[in-house]
Amino acid sequence: MEKQRLVPRPATSEARSRNMAAIRSAHTKPELAVRRTAHALGYRFRLHARTLPGRPDVVFSARRKVIFVHGCFWHQHDCRDWSARTMAADYWREKLKRNRHRDQDNRLQLRRLGWAVLVIWECQTHDKTALARRLRTFLA
Ligand SMILES: [Zn+2]
Repeated sequence: MEKQRLVPRPATSEARSRNMAAIRSAHTKPELAVRRTAHALGYRFRLHARTLPGRPDVVFSARRKVIFVHGCFWHQHDCRDWSARTMAADYWREKLKRNRHRDQDNRLQLRRLGWAVLVIWECQTHDKTALARRLRTFLA
């Protein structure tokens, strides 16, 4: 069900940008799950640091660590069969390839600036125990 909702069909360009704006909004459900878990573990953080490459979703300044919470479709996680279906459209193929390269570039820049970077995929936010374990390990 969730999967259907998250994969937009290329329609008119107007509908398309409306979809993209809605889906790429700053406070997605997976991101909220990560924030809630980090908060429950007692960590304090900032959100969407505009001054950092790629505008990381969660920023732990004192520890110099950042987290990106990536939607599996938008950032092309290798976890689902949707790529075969949706990638049929050239528009998406090109667009999402650019997203992937941009993500990679942002991570590289952040690491050069001395930040530790963790990517948490949407599909990795469902199991809250595993999520908490990952956060603890990364932030320790
Ligand atoms: Zn995934």
